[in-house]
Amino acid sequence: MSESKLRADIVEVGRRLHAREYVASNDGNISVRLDAGRLMTTPKGVSKGFMTPDMLVVADMKGNRLSGDRDPSSEILMHLAVYELRPDIKAVVHAHPPVATGFAVAGIPLDRAVLAEVLTTLGSIPIADYGTPSTMELADAVRKYIRAHDGLLLANHGALTAAGDVMAAYYKMETIEHFARITLVARLLGGERLLSRQEVERLQGLRGTYGIAAPAELCPPDQPAGADEVTCQVVRAPSSPDERIVAVQRSGGVGEGEIRLTYRELTALIEDAVRNLR
Ligand SMILES: [Zn+2]
Repeated sequence: MSESKLRADIVEVGRRLHAREYVASNDGNISVRLDAGRLMTTPKGVSKGFMTPDMLVVADMKGNRLSGDRDPSSEILMHLAVYELRPDIKAVVHAHPPVATGFAVAGIPLDRAVLAEVLTTLGSIPIADYGTPSTMELADAVRKYIRAHDGLLLANHGALTAAGDVMAAYYKMETIEHFARITLVARLLGGERLLSRQEVERLQGLRGTYGIAAPAELCPPDQPAGADEVTCQVVRAPSSPDERIVAVQRSGGVGEGEIRLTYRELTALIEDAVRNLR
């Protein structure tokens, strides 16, 4: 893709983030990996709704500006962490969509098997620990989850998505906010009814149609299954780039007439689908 097309796409994504009120003031940032040594990022201190292509900044993989009149995004460290750990990722979008950010502020992850389009594009959406914006602390918090997820909530802050191109990363942000709104309404109305195991399996069969790209997390095999609200922790680092880690909150417990999947079961299904696509 030409650099001018990439610039136009970043400007368009910024316009949509602002139009949908996923950002206020100068919030949010967008970046695209240009090649092994360079990325293009939105500049510091401008509204993402009113950018022009010439405002964008090209930087190296340490965050130093290579070209452009403005400073790179103040959150460039967080973007660099994603590119470092995920060679498959070409674009990162960060915003503060208000409902998803509400979940991030309340400490409630979006990790239940309730919507097909979420399962097949993002899997579960965990919450990365709080880190002060623009610092390595936030980049490290993202590092912990980005190997296994294409979409994260950032505690007391916002959301982050990553994909193979900038429009796809933007659409994942839309999916997260939409999912958060639906989840909020469902909880106001008495709570989600989870998808059945059979339906998750059926979705797995449709994976070619949906084009699953998100890697999925798996709980360590020695974790006992069946307990309610078990948390399994990351216990090992990947020994190769293809080996994804691991570990999010997992729910057990079976309701009458429906199967509440443990996260191991759910993510094993998605993991299998991802493996078959590669
Ligand atoms: Zn932010």
